[in-house]
Amino acid sequence: MKVLVINCGSSSLKYQVLDMSNESLLAKGLVERIGIEGSAISHEKTGMKEKFVLTEPMETHRDAIKNVIGALLDSKYGVVASMDEIGAVGHRVVHAGEKYADSIVINGKVMDVLLECEELAPLHNPPNILGINACRELMPTTPMVAVFDTAFHQTMPPEAYTYALPYEYYEKYGIRKYGFHGTSHKYVSERAADILGVNLDDLKIITCHLGNGASVTAIKRGKSIDTSMGFTPLEGLVMGTRSGDMDPAILSYISEKEGLSFAEVMNVLNKESGVLGISGVSSDFRDLENAVEEGNERAALAIKVFAHKVRFYIGAYIAIMNGVDAIVFTAGVGENSIEMRDVICAELGNLGIKLDLVKNKIRGKETIISRDDSKVAILLVPTNEELMIARDTYRLTK
Ligand code: AMP
Repeated sequence: MKVLVINCGSSSLKYQVLDMSNESLLAKGLVERIGIEGSAISHEKTGMKEKFVLTEPMETHRDAIKNVIGALLDSKYGVVASMDEIGAVGHRVVHAGEKYADSIVINGKVMDVLLECEELAPLHNPPNILGINACRELMPTTPMVAVFDTAFHQTMPPEAYTYALPYEYYEKYGIRKYGFHGTSHKYVSERAADILGVNLDDLKIITCHLGNGASVTAIKRGKSIDTSMGFTPLEGLVMGTRSGDMDPAILSYISEKEGLSFAEVMNVLNKESGVLGISGVSSDFRDLENAVEEGNERAALAIKVFAHKVRFYIGAYIAIMNGVDAIVFTAGVGENSIEMRDVICAELGNLGIKLDLVKNKIRGKETIISRDDSKVAILLVPTNEELMIARDTYRLTK
């Protein structure tokens, strides 16, 4: 069975087609600037060097999906002769609130729930829903599955997800920690268990998803028991442009001092903070590492603050799980920044965490990077959220 995976953002759409008989990638692509001048699709068929690129006005997500279907059916770059060959479509959906702890086949009732959850993720869920609606319209007989970023974290116990606010805010508005990047944390923890040749049920794992958005998760016996992102993806680690944890009193203080509305302060916290805010250089860690080489002290501070927070959470999760067997690094920074992994793991030796500085000189490959005498295994596992979405879609529709 072939599965189409769709990940819709507000103005972009990523897709992949996988053959689930051997989990191979047949094609992938990206539509950018949906609803903005200069919309374009770029499509890659596995094994072909040349890309298919088409620049054409695409006002809506429906226009974008139409072009995806066109590319998939193309006589030269396509991977199916008819859309009937696509057995199911898997959609990445960011927020399912407390409604779903697993992926689910989409029907009218599920769509109602997703609409209810829009309030919890006003930036992310609406484009996800637009993508689902467009696919349901254009592929009316193909089963669709929603795979949620929040689902994996639904196993967190109340003591991990309850905020110390008046309890009625939880009851009335669902204000609690939800956690995100669940598909990635789940995938890399399962891969880590496979690589180590140990049953997931026998492991305590800390997964560090360090990308532009970043989160750390404590996984005990395959279940998320705490994670650093919260009610929204703003909490937790320092990120590319997001502040992560801070004293909430700072919000009203900035608002007063800078004459900003709460919405404007939130914009600063989401878009102008993180390593970009500290360094004043960039949200991209490659730019930061280059700036450090040129002697930029604030870029050096940004990297140190980022690493400090990751170490902070690793320590916290070792305490929460009463130990750790494996630490996994993934996503853009986790997979590629040799220096960041080095800074994070330095001086954790007393906790039995010893990085092998030679093995660590590697990017983007599944491998163990701890020393042989390290009590805790340290792994590098490139994430593959699309494969995870395809697997769930196949599992629920085959
Ligand atoms: P993601 O959100 O997972 O796509 O990760 C994006 C982040 O990964 C960006 O901040 C990039 O700078 C970072 N990244 C990608 N490649 C490297 C690299 N070679 N060294 C350091 N950071 C990298």
